[in-house]
Amino acid sequence: MSKLWLVTGAAGFIGCNLASTLLKRGCDVVGLDNFSTGNRENAARLEQKYGDRFRLIEGDIRDPSAVAQALEGVGTVAHLAAQVSVQKSIHDPVETDSINNNGYLGILSAAGKAGVKSFIYASSCAVYGDNEALPLAETEIPAPMSPYAVSKLSNDLYASAMTPLIPGMQITGLRFFNIFGPWQDASGGYAAVIPKWIDLCRAGTRPVMYGDGNATRDFCYVGNVVEAVWKIAAMESPLPHAVYNIGTGVGTSLLDLFDVIVAALKARGLTFSFEGPEKQPWK
Ligand code: NAD
Repeated sequence: MSKLWLVTGAAGFIGCNLASTLLKRGCDVVGLDNFSTGNRENAARLEQKYGDRFRLIEGDIRDPSAVAQALEGVGTVAHLAAQVSVQKSIHDPVETDSINNNGYLGILSAAGKAGVKSFIYASSCAVYGDNEALPLAETEIPAPMSPYAVSKLSNDLYASAMTPLIPGMQITGLRFFNIFGPWQDASGGYAAVIPKWIDLCRAGTRPVMYGDGNATRDFCYVGNVVEAVWKIAAMESPLPHAVYNIGTGVGTSLLDLFDVIVAALKARGLTFSFEGPEKQPWK
């Protein structure tokens, strides 16, 4: 495995967790992030702990000069930077496409030209639409329901089409399910329901649950994502191109999730003035 990695979106939730583990395991990391949703504290923490071994370039993935600078000497790319909000993608599909497709294609092509060996990028379970038949296989027919989901499916299709054009580079897509873990921004959309509810409970505010609570999601700890990226980069005979689902394969209902959070907080001594969540119809 190459020692120098480029992690785009390194100031974001998954990016800073990945960069932290890579650095702990002896790799050096260049981060590329424009801080549109990323947190400066995530980058500062890594800079403080690892000094020169972590270098954050502030820039946009659509800026060819920032990308060229970030790719210098890099052997493995984890491309995580994206416009991640489904709602924003509905309000501004053109900007989402510009970041998630043009930006992705630019960095993929530049990585090929720069001699990168392994290019691992974040796709999403959103490509499957509302198919809740967990565990989902990668062979399920995609049914994207938002411009965000279309952009992620398009990444997978481009990866397949570009692989023969960049023979020296392994291209792997990872369809993340609902990822949770440390340094997750509680204001970061539906998938951030776990930190959001924890924060509300700790503040003594009754959380809102949309629907009857029986809707299920596949919640997957960010450490599993990090291990998946690590193992793909470490493969001795990798497939030139593959797309993998990264989830647990197990659905958890929102009601069960709420109970787990309450039990965990009670075990830490928190007391509750409310019985359950406040249920509201889906918006
Ligand atoms: P995040 O918002 O915390 O991180 C995304 C990072 O990309 C941010 O730091 C942001 O500033 C940066 N960024 C955005 N646009 C940029 C641009 N044009 N140039 C440079 N940097 C830019 O989100 P996350 O949850 O860490 O998601 C990481 C990746 O995983 C994304 O591609 C997302 O679509 C995908 N994903 C996440 C989940 C989840 O549950 N968190 C699920 C499926 C897929």
